[in-house]
Amino acid sequence: MHELAIAENLLEMAGQELRRHGLRKLISLRVRCGALAGVLPEALEFAFSALAGDSGETFRDVRLEIVREPLLLRCAGCGRDFTTAPGSLFTSCPLCGYEFFHQALSGAEIFFERMEAE
Ligand SMILES: [Zn+2]
Repeated sequence: MHELAIAENLLEMAGQELRRHGLRKLISLRVRCGALAGVLPEALEFAFSALAGDSGETFRDVRLEIVREPLLLRCAGCGRDFTTAPGSLFTSCPLCGYEFFHQALSGAEIFFERMEAE
């Protein structure tokens, strides 16, 4: 399961950050999730809280906030860039109306945006 591996990764990265700053408890974590990362936010939240609950004090009651990134596309018709809602790769260009094969410029990544700890 894709989301479980991602949740493991997030916890590991958060743990490293905490150690580096001499902090002991993670309070909240906000991640940005690209529209093409193939992540179901509900599944990620579920996996994350299950893992966090099993990893002791450090991650007890941590809040995970997932922000879905809009998708940045380059129009194959007019060459201009535009953003669209997550999941809508097949949409027409708002600038020229062209409909096919837009190039995805971003959206396949997941990264930390903000972390709160003490
Ligand atoms: Zn266009």
